[in-house]
Amino acid sequence: MRLIGVGIHGIQLFCGLMDLGDSFNIKTYYDIVKHITTATRAVFDLVTRKAVKEEQRLNIEHELLEEVLTVSGDSSWAKRGFSSLVGIVSLIGKYSGKVIDTVVRSSYCKACEQWKNEKDTFDYECWYDIHKDECPANHEGSAGKMEVDGVVEMFMRSIEKFDVRYGYYIGDGDSKTFKMLLDTSPYGDSFEVKKLECVLHVKKRLYKRSAEAKKALTQKKKALAIDEKKKESSKPPIVKKRFQKIRIF
Ligand SMILES: [Zn+2]
Repeated sequence: MRLIGVGIHGIQLFCGLMDLGDSFNIKTYYDIVKHITTATRAVFDLVTRKAVKEEQRLNIEHELLEEVLTVSGDSSWAKRGFSSLVGIVSLIGKYSGKVIDTVVRSSYCKACEQWKNEKDTFDYECWYDIHKDECPANHEGSAGKMEVDGVVEMFMRSIEKFDVRYGYYIGDGDSKTFKMLLDTSPYGDSFEVKKLECVLHVKKRLYKRSAEAKKALTQKKKALAIDEKKKESSKPPIVKKRFQKIRIF
């Protein structure tokens, strides 16, 4: 249930309804959550390593260097818009289409929230000393910045994790991420990351703009037609009669 986003209260309710006991020890709950995290991380590492190997094999098939991959970045947020506190950023291999790395960015930590009024006290410092290594809040700034920071983080760790470099970044039209990649130069000055434009995103932008232009044109035509009608109805009746005569002849 934890994996589908149900927390301790939901689990307690479910256990109560199913007559499995109405309480769930909080320590047991967090122990289980830790086990799930460890197992999920292990599976994630295994799967992404396999995806990188596949991407490398496909790179060779396309007569490209094995250790220089082409990737695209994508992200999604817990909430639509730019007010989300949690976001997930992924890198996807060009040829395999598989996710080869992911980071979760969060600007919220429940424990830090509970302690925020105790800041600058001795108790807080003692607590934070232990907590800082496991604090889930790893992001500062807007939700939009999560994608930029997440992509840069994954580029920075590609050699350490997979012994590969991401030489080409397929952009989605948002130039902020690529600009940051150039500024941070994750592989040093001797290896510059290059940008490729995603055809699908270009198509999407073209379609969106042509649809907007079509809508604007239709609205303008409608407004002109209304103006014409108004002019027609405001003409004196004699003129109207003459027009009618002309029409009859
Ligand atoms: Zn925290």
